[in-house]
Amino acid sequence: MNLSPPAGSRRRIVVLGSTGSIGTSCLKVIDALPERLQAWGLSAHSRWEELLQQVEHYRPRYVSVTDPQAARAFARHPLPVETRLLDGDDAIGAMVSDPEVDVVLTAIVGAAGLTGTWLALQAGKTVALANKETLVMAGPLVMELAQKKNARILPVDSEHSAIFQAMQAGQPREIHRIVLTASGGPFRGKKREDLANITPDQALQHPTWSMGRKITIDSATMMNKALEIIEARWLFNLRPEQIQVILHPESVVHSFVEFTDGSVLAQLSPPDMCLPIQYALTYPERVDGPAKRLQWDELRSLNFQQPDLETFPALRLGYEVARRGGTCGAVLNAANEAAVSAFLEGELSFLDIPRVCREVLDHHHYSEWPTLSELNAQDRWSRQEVLRWITAKAHSRIR
Ligand code: NAD
Ligand code: MG
Repeated sequence: MNLSPPAGSRRRIVVLGSTGSIGTSCLKVIDALPERLQAWGLSAHSRWEELLQQVEHYRPRYVSVTDPQAARAFARHPLPVETRLLDGDDAIGAMVSDPEVDVVLTAIVGAAGLTGTWLALQAGKTVALANKETLVMAGPLVMELAQKKNARILPVDSEHSAIFQAMQAGQPREIHRIVLTASGGPFRGKKREDLANITPDQALQHPTWSMGRKITIDSATMMNKALEIIEARWLFNLRPEQIQVILHPESVVHSFVEFTDGSVLAQLSPPDMCLPIQYALTYPERVDGPAKRLQWDELRSLNFQQPDLETFPALRLGYEVARRGGTCGAVLNAANEAAVSAFLEGELSFLDIPRVCREVLDHHHYSEWPTLSELNAQDRWSRQEVLRWITAKAHSRIR
């Protein structure tokens, strides 16, 4: 039986953040399924040479470079005849709202990913969501927009993809709780005192996943799991007390759904983002693709442990923010982004990352139902607060 889709029905994919870890995995999936998927639009921030190579290979309809300096360098090079360079503030908006686009994969890192996701949903597009920060910052507004525009959000984050897949065994009202698995990052099993002098190079060594720098640091602090608790809360409309976290060092079980009758369903596969990306791009179909497969003869054991909230206080922040909602998500997300980049620059210690997030969260002006522009203002304020905190700390050390 031939299961290939009819000619001409290839899904047209826009990849926002095509030069990143998720972006390049997405292109690998597109390469493996040429009869189903087509790269229709590509965007990147500063790595324009890599983007140029991608454009020459995929010959997309649209391309855009968001960093102004990189955009100038990029614009000096000839493009394939079928490719149009979009520039200016509306470039991403024009790309994602093209009527011919089927799916927008949002793989930009950080709060910068919110605009592209928002514009894609506004245009009624299916969004394959890798950029979890979108839901952390503005979960209720984003979900409301998706509903209003009848636009689907398909999770790419491996845990959320696992939950989404397992949830299909029952009705949303039949879910008792979900359990997010966490590898525990490079410092699993360590105590607080072991983490005082951690360097960026040490924190960038993830044991199971190969990812961009920001999410790799988030995994080391376990802020990534905190962000995922918040992401799950809004995406699946769960109460925070229905979300649990368990350490699972092998990263093979990508999460669990426990139904009201006590039955627990999980999704398993080796740690390889190609699978959740592909599932979001070909949904609801499952097809043979490039993702690694479980080698059952090599699989010896699957381990689970309780997380250590004393050593990784970021997790507590995740639960608290999921509970309080309002402006908390935008504030935590921006404070964490600023703290991670200061840590990578050698201006902040590893243990100070959750510490400064806690301070900024505690001092912000909380509002329960903020607008998008209020959230953006809180984002800017939080980043400034982190810088102020770092400067004050440096001064107190000199004195
Ligand atoms: P990355 O750093 O490898 O790539 C980021 C991409 O975003 C690049 O293409 C870059 O050009 C673009 N970008 C960066 N700053 C930008 C800006 N200001 N404006 C526009 N574009 C910008 O990151 P990644 O690891 O691929 O992660 C991307 C997103 O996916 C993050 O939100 C992350 O949390 C999420 N995610 C990643 C993984 C993973 O395995 N890497 C897993 C789950 C979720
Ligand atoms: Mg994840």
